[in-house]
Amino acid sequence: MTASKVTRIQLNDGYSIPQLGFGVFKVDPHETERIVADALEVGYRHLDTARIYGNEEGVGRAIASSGIAREELFVTTKLWNDDQGPEAGVVDAFERSLDRLGLEYLDLYLIHWPTPARDRYLETWRAFERLRETGRVRSIGVSNFLAHHLERLLAETDVVPAVDQIELHPAHQQPETGAFAREHGIAIEAWGPLGQGKYPLFELPQVQAASATHGKTPAQVVIRWHLQRRHVVFPKSAHRHRMEENFDVFDFELSEAEMQAITALERGGRVSAHPDEFN
Ligand code: NDP
Repeated sequence: MTASKVTRIQLNDGYSIPQLGFGVFKVDPHETERIVADALEVGYRHLDTARIYGNEEGVGRAIASSGIAREELFVTTKLWNDDQGPEAGVVDAFERSLDRLGLEYLDLYLIHWPTPARDRYLETWRAFERLRETGRVRSIGVSNFLAHHLERLLAETDVVPAVDQIELHPAHQQPETGAFAREHGIAIEAWGPLGQGKYPLFELPQVQAASATHGKTPAQVVIRWHLQRRHVVFPKSAHRHRMEENFDVFDFELSEAEMQAITALERGGRVSAHPDEFN
């Protein structure tokens, strides 16, 4: 399996993103360099981190020692909630993330949460728009924005986000946000694509059946479901054998019936915070 087999999703700003990447939420900062180095060796070329994960340095060190050309990589990080606000603070937070990553430019920068009680995401987004004009970040987007946050953002600012990164797995699909995003050309990134191990997706009979039919693991079936739904995904694993397993998903296809059976697993099974309440 080579990196070039990974399909790409076209973004609304002319750039494209590898549809399968590697996420590092809850990856111990002391182990991040080794774990990301393993992921790069396995073939991942898209990395998803955030300031709040505390492991941007480790991601940066793994990139630097990999010898992989910068243009072959797609790196995302996120602005944390307490850095939202006036432009100077946003730019400063961006510079510090870029420094920790050891990069000259970022592929994608996201507002991590809307934090509606702070009511600063419009101001923050205008700073993102200007940051993009400098060329030091290619694409800008949001995370954990529900349809009504996106609607307000689109009404009050100029640039349509390239992506919205939301909690999304078969038991919690956020169809309303997905439909709004699709209508406005915003790509959906699914975080917690495997339900973070908190939701027992792998035991569900519909997933098990597709797993048996295709001779693939339940995790591979769930990742494949995401890819066929045109989600961008970056499952996290600290274990190399699972990194390989999660990357080996381009040699089979779920049938329309299998896709429908898994899509019917929607249960409102949110495993993390509600974006309207997380501030
Ligand atoms: P995931 O859905 O990727 O699940 C990760 C869990 O699944 C880990 O416990 C991992 O265990 C386990 N796992 C991974 N692969 C397999 C496998 N093949 N079989 C069985 N278990 C497996 O959750 P994440 O929260 O990590 O989501 C992915 C990424 O999304 C994050 O790393 C982060 O980049 C992003 N994210 C963004 C958020 C946001 O607010 N924008 C919030 C949360 C995540 P182990 O490591 O032991 O293998």
